[in-house]
Amino acid sequence: MEVENCYGCGGCVAVCPTGAITIIEEVEIDAEKCVKCGRCELMCPAGLIRIDGSQR
Ligand code: SF4
Ligand code: SF4
Repeated sequence: MEVENCYGCGGCVAVCPTGAITIIEEVEIDAEKCVKCGRCELMCPAGLIRIDGSQR
């Protein structure tokens, strides 16, 4: 999974059902918690998130 050039809107964090995403200095996705639902990819207004193998 990759996140580039995030501007910190927080949308991906809000939609993640498992709390896998945190933003401290940058967006981090916990691979152990991520269920690859693809919601964060759909939510990101800038299309910055790529989850390998998501159900999007
Ligand atoms: S794909 Fe789903 S579970 Fe994984 S980080 Fe994104 S919203 Fe969370
Ligand atoms: S939705 Fe996109 S721009 Fe917003 S915090 Fe998440 S990665 Fe960054």
